[in-house]
Amino acid sequence: MDFRVEPEFQQKLDWMSEFIRKEVEPLDLLFPRASEMYDTTNRKARALIKPLREQVKAQGLWACHLPPQLGGKGYGQLKLALMNEIIGRCSWAPTIFGCAAPDTGNAEILALYGTPAQKKRYLQPLLDGEIVSCFSMTEPQAGADPKEFTCKAWREGEEWVIEGEKWYSSNARFASFLIVMAVTNPENPPHERMSMFIVPAATPGIVIKRNVAGMNDDPDDGTQAYIRYDRVRVPLDALLGKPGEAFKVAQARLGGGRIHHAMRTVGVCNRALEMMLERAVSRRTQGRLLADHQFVKGMIADSAIELEQFRLLVLKTAWIIDNEPHGTARIHIGMCKVAMAKVYHDVVERAVHLHGALGTSRDTPLAKYWMGIPMLAVADGPTEVHQVQVANALLKTAKPAPGLFPSEYIPHKREAALERFGSVLDGAGAKERE
Ligand SMILES: Cc1cc2nc3c(=O)[nH]c(=O)nc-3n(C[C@H](O)[C@H](O)[C@H](O)COP(=O)(O)OP(=O)(O)OC[C@H]3O[C@@H](n4cnc5c(N)ncnc54)[C@H](O)[C@@H]3O)c2cc1C
Repeated sequence: MDFRVEPEFQQKLDWMSEFIRKEVEPLDLLFPRASEMYDTTNRKARALIKPLREQVKAQGLWACHLPPQLGGKGYGQLKLALMNEIIGRCSWAPTIFGCAAPDTGNAEILALYGTPAQKKRYLQPLLDGEIVSCFSMTEPQAGADPKEFTCKAWREGEEWVIEGEKWYSSNARFASFLIVMAVTNPENPPHERMSMFIVPAATPGIVIKRNVAGMNDDPDDGTQAYIRYDRVRVPLDALLGKPGEAFKVAQARLGGGRIHHAMRTVGVCNRALEMMLERAVSRRTQGRLLADHQFVKGMIADSAIELEQFRLLVLKTAWIIDNEPHGTARIHIGMCKVAMAKVYHDVVERAVHLHGALGTSRDTPLAKYWMGIPMLAVADGPTEVHQVQVANALLKTAKPAPGLFPSEYIPHKREAALERFGSVLDGAGAKERE
């Protein structure tokens, strides 16, 4: 196992760090609203990001979430993890590097399941950063359990008709197309009842009832759409994958999304930790620097240790995705999802606290980080769902104890040890006595 980064790739990472600090972080201050990153009609922002994206492309660092055979410039998930640690420091960086969610996941499923015509029409402009997209799966009455979904689609002649409601469809108002999950085969087993459709945003019948604002958004800047699909008609070739395959398609995209969020969370936590360190050696109380107080040292050490543990889990998961058969990393991705929410909460909470009143204000990035905590634990499936999956996978490998007592019951094990070596010990004892 070698934890060093190849020197050529380290140079790329160094370039990214410098570039993001100098050129991209200012965008977070000039265009702080969540919507501005996805609004392709915002001329001022677009004028600024175009030359920045050109620089990223010239470095071969654009859209690195997809491997070359799927149309991207990918270096694999392990290197992407190292890149995302840097990208995660800054809200605009994913947009500048062509790897913003939910477009990354949508690109992934288009690349994996799209027909050549679908790839040409939707994937290429998405990868080129010309358009943004939406993934419309969660419903107002059901999110974490897709088996409860009711939005349905049925065939009428040469068309599919989609009818139902979706909730928290991020960026629907800016999207050129929406990927919609709908029940098409209610007679099938639960995981084979739904199909995925690509619906162009201009299709009649798509009604955005509300754009819900997250708690860290301005109230008038909601980007989470509550949508009614009112008998939306799409041609037969709008189907993404096979009928009844939506669950499988969704899993392919959600796995990638979760691990990429985890990689970027390492970056956010690193920035929060850096802020803690600076504060600790800047602020004095009781005649000493904060850094000289043991409680503060404890907060810093705990944050660094938890972050490093999480980072190693993320890197190992990325390594498994790169090197093991497809699907092998599922449980590790679940572990990352659970750990991500906890580490993020704990590190950001300490950073806010060490900054005192300033930490509770909106004058540092910590306010945004803090308000992002609940979302990280819910988006892409709540923590509990992943905990259950991780535990279930482990429990499948477990065998019941052989009898009344556990197999690690020491009296029984001592008996077995004596049985194994008792005669040798007796012999050695006899010799000693001689
Ligand atoms: C910022 C953000 C962006 C999002 N973007 C999108 C998007 O683009 N497209 C999209 O389709 N969806 C999106 N979502 C929706 C997201 O996928 C759902 O919120 C998530 O799956 C949880 O569903 P829910 O909100 O209905 O919560 P519920 O399913 O109602 O769960 C609520 C709570 O119940 C408990 N719970 C639920 N299930 C279990 C279980 N099995 N075991 C134990 N406890 C459980 C947990 O405490 C959970 O937090 C987004 C959500 C957020 C926060």
